[in-house]
Amino acid sequence: MPTKYIIVTGGVLSGLGKGIAVASIGHLLSSRLKIIPIKCDGYLNVDPGTMNPFEHGEVFVLDDGGEVDMDFGHYERFLGVTCKSKWNLTMGKVFEMVREKERRGDYLGKTVQYIPHVTDVIKGHIFEIVEEEKPDLVLVEIGGTVGDIENELFLEAMRQMREDVSRENIIYVHLTYVPIPYGVNEQKSKPTQQSVNLLKQRGIFPDIIIGRCSQFLTKEVKSKISNFCDVAPEAVITGLDVDDIYEIPIIFEKEGLPEIIHKKLNIYSPPDLRKWKSYIDNIRHPTEEITVAMCGKYTRLEDSYASILEAFNHCSAHLRCKIKVKWVETTDLKDPRVLEDVDGILVPGGFGSRGTEGKIQAIKVAREKNIPFLGLCLGLQLAVIEFARNVCGLQGANSTEIDPNTPYAVIDILPEQRNVVNKGGTMRLGAYEAVFKEGTKVRSLYGTDRASERHRHRYEVNPEFHEILQEHGMVFSGVSKDGRLVEFIELPGHKYFVATQSHPELKSRMERPAPLFYGFIKACLEKD
Ligand code: GLN
Repeated sequence: MPTKYIIVTGGVLSGLGKGIAVASIGHLLSSRLKIIPIKCDGYLNVDPGTMNPFEHGEVFVLDDGGEVDMDFGHYERFLGVTCKSKWNLTMGKVFEMVREKERRGDYLGKTVQYIPHVTDVIKGHIFEIVEEEKPDLVLVEIGGTVGDIENELFLEAMRQMREDVSRENIIYVHLTYVPIPYGVNEQKSKPTQQSVNLLKQRGIFPDIIIGRCSQFLTKEVKSKISNFCDVAPEAVITGLDVDDIYEIPIIFEKEGLPEIIHKKLNIYSPPDLRKWKSYIDNIRHPTEEITVAMCGKYTRLEDSYASILEAFNHCSAHLRCKIKVKWVETTDLKDPRVLEDVDGILVPGGFGSRGTEGKIQAIKVAREKNIPFLGLCLGLQLAVIEFARNVCGLQGANSTEIDPNTPYAVIDILPEQRNVVNKGGTMRLGAYEAVFKEGTKVRSLYGTDRASERHRHRYEVNPEFHEILQEHGMVFSGVSKDGRLVEFIELPGHKYFVATQSHPELKSRMERPAPLFYGFIKACLEKD
């Protein structure tokens, strides 16, 4: 069977949940097909690694070290695939490739132009992925909204693809918005019509239209959209507003989306949502409730902690509990006693010094009051600092990221990393294996003697302080194979005091919640 393609574009507004829609389509078709998701982003950054989480939400990190758009988190979680950084194509990368080719003389004296040279690079990249992965189906999400200057070249490349891969192997799905204006109380199709017109002006004729709406689309509005936009009425699908994103595959199934796709692309992969539904049922009908304090500085934007919140959902699905998040902005944590009434304290990753003293205070409360604690990346580093200061007596201990003149640099850049200066290149990125110590909580939670988790950081626990930390009772439950890097720590005798230099939330899945999260939430549920 030739590889099939589904191209997903968005119209009317941004933020309609195109990533979730793509992931949900993939979920519905994944039972018998090998699916590769590809995301095209119009910005000129090479990757989102250098972007502030306030601007673009969480930076998602892949096994291969790629820093990619957070939609890859949805793809991995909904499709059960391990994505590669090559699958996130930004205009920054495209221009870099075009420039390289031009300098190499590949264009043989020709004027280098948007069409065909830039569009050829975009298509060439996609075909290279297809060559490497040999998928049954490629799902391409075009970031942004039709009409944006930024995604014009991607749209043009997608239009050209129809001829390259032959018409019967490609369909176009357009996600739009169907408002119900206040006082009018009727679903309005005009924005969809206008958006589809913009798409048609670019030579793309959608096969399926998904209308995001606060209600199921009525028969009338479906038939109107069908009439004006030249799609069959059954190919107009509701993208209902929902409280949790796991609902979307169920709604798409109800609306008949898999059948339409099967018919149009001549593929067959019947969805099986039984397990998925039972997880959602557990999330919906909790038997217990806990509150976890999330101590961070990006607390204003929940998207910057998307994977952590997902990992909580995965735990809820297995432990049947509601996890309420208390957002604690540590920059102005005046009284850490506000934390004493929570069931657990989580200190997530972060960069820079703002808010770190507040987080250290929160960790102290967790340690001293026997409140379950989970530290992620910066969370581990600050737990080590707190322990060094208050248990080992190393006054003023710190990370050189926060205080370059600290007398005790318990967290530092290791000599091998010091020489790298380019911001994009200094980080330890991607999956690394840690070896677990026997008899530790971490090892028993993973149920194995080693595990690989994803990393994104520059600093490490300074080997010069390994001995003193351990002498005072900190257990290094997981270290790198050469023993030089501390990957997991825990404090014995505490209800649950565990931290890791990695980001286990990135690999958490509905079917298998990240072990450290599972252990943490379980500990939070144990009332004294
Ligand atoms: N800022 C710290 C470092 O670079 C931690 C990074 C993180 O939490 N992801 O090492």
